Amino acid sequence: MSVSRPHIEPGRLFIDGEWREADAKGRRDILDPSTGKVITTVAEADAIDVDAAVTAARKAFDTGPWASTPGRERARVLHRVADLIRQRADEIVAVESVNVGKPVSLCRAVDVATAAEEYEYYSAMAQSVDGSSRRLPFPAHAYTTRDPLGVIGAITPFNFPLVLSSSKIAPALAAGNTVVHKPAEETPLSALLMAEILAEAGVPDGVVNVVTGGGAVVGEALLRHPGVDKIAFTGSTRIGRHAASLAGEALKPVTMELGGNAAQIVFEDADVEKAIGSAIKGFVFNTGQFCMGGPRLLVHSSLYETVLGILAEAVAGVPVGDPFDPATVVGPMAGARHLAKVEEYVRIARAEGGRVVVGGERLELNGGNYYRPTVIADLSNDSRAVQEEIFGPVLTVQPFDTEDEAVALANSTPYGLASGLQTRDLARAHRVAARLQAGIVWVNDWAMLDPAMPFGGVKQSGYGREYGPEALESYTKVKSVIISLA
Ligand code: NAD
Repeated sequence: MSVSRPHIEPGRLFIDGEWREADAKGRRDILDPSTGKVITTVAEADAIDVDAAVTAARKAFDTGPWASTPGRERARVLHRVADLIRQRADEIVAVESVNVGKPVSLCRAVDVATAAEEYEYYSAMAQSVDGSSRRLPFPAHAYTTRDPLGVIGAITPFNFPLVLSSSKIAPALAAGNTVVHKPAEETPLSALLMAEILAEAGVPDGVVNVVTGGGAVVGEALLRHPGVDKIAFTGSTRIGRHAASLAGEALKPVTMELGGNAAQIVFEDADVEKAIGSAIKGFVFNTGQFCMGGPRLLVHSSLYETVLGILAEAVAGVPVGDPFDPATVVGPMAGARHLAKVEEYVRIARAEGGRVVVGGERLELNGGNYYRPTVIADLSNDSRAVQEEIFGPVLTVQPFDTEDEAVALANSTPYGLASGLQTRDLARAHRVAARLQAGIVWVNDWAMLDPAMPFGGVKQSGYGREYGPEALESYTKVKSVIISLA
């Protein structure tokens, strides 16, 4: 089904179940990355608006019905959210695609489908937020309860606005919390649409509030606000470090989902065709703006030139273009600053001796932020283009000779979000998976994700987990109750 570019009314803040202008009446232009033109404007909030949103969320938590609503009823509401996401899929696809530059076909199949699954998964979980009973060595009846934390400050990045806000809001609501969501400044439109959908599904006023605006103002105000009980942050390692220190100052628990720079290892016994399919998926998906992308390909030296040859041809054939063309696989970068960063890294890679095998330049199209998918060979492991997070459609390829060398190269960056390998040897699959320093390891495919499987980082990729029962637990606190039987 085709989706066309939507007309989007100017956005306002969603606080206590109402649409409001920002206190200072500020507004921000929101751009279409495929043309550079203004799509609409949204309210630019400040600390006063954050305070209003936190006050509403606080009131909804302390005196409202959500936390005390039985889990089964919260489950019904979350299930309705999933149903509404599916019913309104065309509208959501149009909004997310025009704002982020996501190809409509992928946005429907991945972003919208995943968001619905996230609400569905945590709808089921909402019915089992339980404590347990314990036997003690003295006469007592002892049990634990698992209770919601309170007000959650959710801060999300520009690249997966819908998926990464749902991955926080769904478990937070399942556990009975209330939320203030601050989306990324350049891609806030699906968050505003979701505020409407959540209300339509029956989420009470004040339980989810959306405050749009800049990180340094709105994000920091949330981090510092004494009424916020936990921060769920996804974004870059640089900002995450600062956010964690502010939250630490206030002793707020945080989950930190930060940057990544994963390696995909292709062993000599791999299915080469499959490995190349995974490699391409790993670096062009979402135009490379994917924290769990695999921008470093490590190839056994016996396959190195063969893989480069096949990659060059296959990558040159990946359809890049207008996100609203259903055949497009790679859209524009979400913002001009992200495009400029990719250009700079490719310049650095060339200066560091990299051989550009395919791509290596912008694609001039309608004034959009397009960059051709790019493969760079022959860089040394200490080059910046290998070690740093480029966050664009760029793959570096390095050879290796032994399993130990492959593992050492894979683990050699400061990041540890995802990692993966291609092999037909089952023992090697388990052996190497155990040695890779990453929160998630994929074998013989890339980016297999599901709300049931936790993801998150080690090292500079952060701490805490999203998805699975682990995420739900992170939105709860445990209380021990011990009743004397003496
Ligand atoms: P970013 O760190 O620039 O911004 C993330 C969020 O933090 C935005 O909402 C931003 O407005 C806010 N922010 C900015 N300054 C702030 C401040 N001083 N205080 C509080 N909040 C502030 O990240 P980005 O460019 O939007 O996203 C890309 C980054 O996110 C990449 O590094 C990517 O790897 C990472 N990411 C990680 C995951 C994961 O699951 N680990 C998922 C997606 C993206």
